[in-house]
Amino acid sequence: MKILVMNCGSSSLKYQLIDMKDENVLAKGLVERIGIKGSILTHRVNGQKHIVEQPMEDHKVAVKLVLDALVDKEYGVIDDMSEISAVGHRVVHGGERYAKSVLIDEKVMKALKDCIPLAPLHNPPNIIGINACRQLMPDTPMVGVFDTAFHQTMPDYAYMYPLPYELYEKYKIRKYGFHGTSHRFVSIEAAKLMGKDIKELKIITCHLGNGASICAVDKGKSADTSMGFTPLAGLAMGTRCGDIDPAVIPFLMNATGLSINDIDVMMNKKSGVLGVSGVSSDFRDVESAANSGNKRAKLALDLYYHRVKSFIGAYAAVLNGVDAIVFTAGLGENSATSRAAVCGGLGYLGIKIDPEKNNIRGEALEISTSDSKVKVFVIPTNEELMIARDTKDIVKNLK
Ligand code: ADP
Repeated sequence: MKILVMNCGSSSLKYQLIDMKDENVLAKGLVERIGIKGSILTHRVNGQKHIVEQPMEDHKVAVKLVLDALVDKEYGVIDDMSEISAVGHRVVHGGERYAKSVLIDEKVMKALKDCIPLAPLHNPPNIIGINACRQLMPDTPMVGVFDTAFHQTMPDYAYMYPLPYELYEKYKIRKYGFHGTSHRFVSIEAAKLMGKDIKELKIITCHLGNGASICAVDKGKSADTSMGFTPLAGLAMGTRCGDIDPAVIPFLMNATGLSINDIDVMMNKKSGVLGVSGVSSDFRDVESAANSGNKRAKLALDLYYHRVKSFIGAYAAVLNGVDAIVFTAGLGENSATSRAAVCGGLGYLGIKIDPEKNNIRGEALEISTSDSKVKVFVIPTNEELMIARDTKDIVKNLK
């Protein structure tokens, strides 16, 4: 069974065609600048790059070019589109409606539209992408896989905000959490590496990329997570502030005359490691500035590690213990310095990492010492594969 995985943004589209027989990626690619001058498709097969540059006024044109690339005589990987058994779509927000991936039909499309107020930037392009695929492949089943779904198992006392209850009833204001597909994938892989049933394990997963979140995974289910109503909450991130005292916002409005929109942009795009360091949102730049003596760069990193560590401590308490900690995403997979800084001083929790083993990159490996009570892993995330696995599970029983 071959599954096409789609991740549609407002002007971009990422895709992978995965052969589920061996979970091998047959082809993958990226379309950028959809609807903007300079549209470009980069299609990759076996490390070879093929570029298609032509105007793409909308997602339908982009999806058509992706399908053309997949069946192309020269660089295609299938003979006919009918070889694609199903399409799995990444969808950011499923609200409270979806705790699992779902076969897309008209009812689901309506529910996705209903979730637009909760994810005004993300759900509309996801919907446009799904519609484009449905038009071009009307007989191919489509599955929606939600970033929020995994966290729907959080208990009410973890997801409710201490605000007037009517706000939850009227506007659905609560914690949803994001990166669920990634937290789910790496927690499953950690259990496999430990040779244990995930239902016996308490795992804390740290997805540390440009956006970052931590999840307390109890017996395979999300018990709490650091992102909230939006992906702005929780940890400090590349450009996002994470948790701050909410009173800072009215204070700033009064003190500076900034509008609520200006402050929203500031908190999302000009804060976090970039805002504190003044150097960059990319941890490589900030690490190198800190190493050359830049004090603000060092402060940004120290603040970042402090937050990650605080959440690990909090989630060890939420889980009443922890068997494994997993690092994943750009920083988590690649930065030995960050992993060492976060894990240093967690000896009281039984966490000890081996500096030599920690010196790895992008591989699924245990990095804790043999006497560490808590296992620590680096596990490259693979949201596309998780989407493909869910899609396969849902469509395999369809007639
Ligand atoms: P996203 O998918 O959220 O855009 P990624 O998971 O790709 O982000 O992570 C990107 C971030 O990972 C970059 O901003 C960079 O700071 C960090 N990163 C990648 N490689 C390294 C590295 N070798 N050392 C430190 N940080 C790294």
